[in-house]
Amino acid sequence: MSPVHRVAHRLLLTVALLCALVSPAAAQSLDFPQPADFDSDRALAHAYHLSETIGDRPGGSVGEQVSAGWLAGQFATLGYDVRIQPFPLYRYGNSLIGMNVIATREGLPGYGVLYAGAHYDTVERISGFDYGGPGANDNASGVSVLLELAQLYAAIPLTPTLTLIAFGGEEDGLAGSRHFVRQLPVGVRFLAQGMLNFDCVGVGDELHLYYQGESDREFAETLPVDADQIQRLRSGSSDHVSFSDNGIPAVLFSMYTPGNPCGPHYHRPSDTHDTLERAAIERTGRAAVQALQHLMETATPRSANLRYLPFIAHTTSQ
Ligand SMILES: [Zn+2]
Repeated sequence: MSPVHRVAHRLLLTVALLCALVSPAAAQSLDFPQPADFDSDRALAHAYHLSETIGDRPGGSVGEQVSAGWLAGQFATLGYDVRIQPFPLYRYGNSLIGMNVIATREGLPGYGVLYAGAHYDTVERISGFDYGGPGANDNASGVSVLLELAQLYAAIPLTPTLTLIAFGGEEDGLAGSRHFVRQLPVGVRFLAQGMLNFDCVGVGDELHLYYQGESDREFAETLPVDADQIQRLRSGSSDHVSFSDNGIPAVLFSMYTPGNPCGPHYHRPSDTHDTLERAAIERTGRAAVQALQHLMETATPRSANLRYLPFIAHTTSQ
């Protein structure tokens, strides 16, 4: 083969390989591994450890630090790369340090990053008032789903990289998630495929998906989840808002109780483990696996988030 032919041959091979890689049909033909079933016993045990063994976990407290250490150990035992990320937070004029626990498993190059998160902090008790407590539903329940996702996706091959975050400081103006998104380099934000957030998933009969903006609505509606409601929630309700505000499509999973979206014990000392409903956690957990599995199976190397490149997004929409 002459040098010219050799170059032409390599060029053709490269083009053929690239076509195979970027073709959705090629992506769908891959045999995707399925995770095991969501285990609500294991999830409830995680929630018990946070809400009863550790107890109150306000941002910047010893309870939050003990929880961060325990969570890091859980993720590390499952083989994730784990990092504890400190951040500043302010409460009642005091300057405190909160902590995010970030666990990552690498996927395939070029497939981007999927985020899933839940806050593990609680509101601080105010003595003499029926306020603050161990936060079983808000939000040991969400963290229990997050830890179970970590377990189910610990050993199977991933397409996008999976980054799981237990946020601190949610109850202090979303301090942990706002810090997490702010410190993401632009190049990493560009690779973000979406974010699933779990908050107050342990009490209630209806599964609601909440979104903030239009791209979040589109993201939520593509998920193959049997939700009772998919609706807009405008307030800064939970950590998905930090992602949505920065162009990463994000959705909140929450179990709904009529008259009280976060259950009757919301931010009260009575938000204890014995009030959690196995069916609520199981329904959220199964929906979370369906959503994550769908995102893994439909990801392609081309599905980058162009909202971070306004110029390209603008020119490609012409
Ligand atoms: Zn919450």
